Amino acid sequence: MSAAPRLSLAIPVYNEREVLPELLSRVRGALDKVPGGPHEIVLVDDGSSDGTVEMLEAAAREDPRIVAVCLSRNFGHQMALTAAFDHVTGDVVVAMDGDLQDPPEVIPQLLAKHAEGYDVVYVRRGQRQESWRLRLAYALFYRLVAALSDLRLPLDSGDFALLSRRVVDAMRQAPERQRYLRGLRTWAGFRQTGITVDRPARHAGRSKYTPLKLLKLAADGIFAFSIYPLRLALVLGAVAIAASLVYAVYAVVGRFLFDTTPQGFTTLVVAIIFSSGVQLVLLGVVGEYVGRIYEEVKGRPHYIVGKIVRGK
Ligand code: UDP
Ligand code: MG
Repeated sequence: MSAAPRLSLAIPVYNEREVLPELLSRVRGALDKVPGGPHEIVLVDDGSSDGTVEMLEAAAREDPRIVAVCLSRNFGHQMALTAAFDHVTGDVVVAMDGDLQDPPEVIPQLLAKHAEGYDVVYVRRGQRQESWRLRLAYALFYRLVAALSDLRLPLDSGDFALLSRRVVDAMRQAPERQRYLRGLRTWAGFRQTGITVDRPARHAGRSKYTPLKLLKLAADGIFAFSIYPLRLALVLGAVAIAASLVYAVYAVVGRFLFDTTPQGFTTLVVAIIFSSGVQLVLLGVVGEYVGRIYEEVKGRPHYIVGKIVRGK
């Protein structure tokens, strides 16, 4: 490993017109302080419609460090970051959000850890600025995914991380479409460590993650890294069968020894509705996996690049 590796930043942006000037100036300022180089900033435009693309192209034309990769439409944050990983050329890559919630001033700390021999340095979120409901949802989510997964996924860390070239290459070898990149990062292995940094509020504009997109990300985290939901179906089915057997024995013994038959129309109706509900839910779980298999076997490209603008 050379003393001063070439650094690439991988930054997806989607309708970030209000943040972009500040982002570019802070990122450039941070890179100026990093020894070695030439470093590069790969910004992927994820189908913005607010003028972000034009600003990016202009920035790329005037700064040789900037590469603008413009996708043909909105493919989502994880795909945009995937596109960034496919276009970076540096020895080390720092993935970060484009809304300055991942402060570029942390980069020297990440590089210092990398110099100690770590291939992955992820950022654990300290204090967050979001509403308490969202914070609770994030906390529960990271714990649920970690509990369900066979991998030891670090808690409270998002995509903000430094990755060595071999980790980026390992992640790029995973062809899956339902990409949960922070999971793939753990899956890649090598030496990994984390540092804790408080997460500021976004610099300007609104979150581009709608509640639906967040749920989709959560589902990708769970279904892409665990088959426990399927096992749960098996276990619940076995428990239901066991319970019904116990009840059958009770009913038969009651009938022949004590001449009593269990009564209760209401109980019957509730039991039937309950068990058919459980069956539908479990069918849905199986369906979720089948749908994901279908998405995978189609084998469509992950994203389409409209154009790439590089500084001269
Ligand atoms: N983003 C993207 N495509 C999307 C949604 C988001 O490229 O469909 C980018 C966005 O511009 C930002 C990063 O992904 O740079 C994180 O999104 P955001 O800050 O809106 O999410 P939050 O931090 O609220 O979870
Ligand atoms: Mg954000």
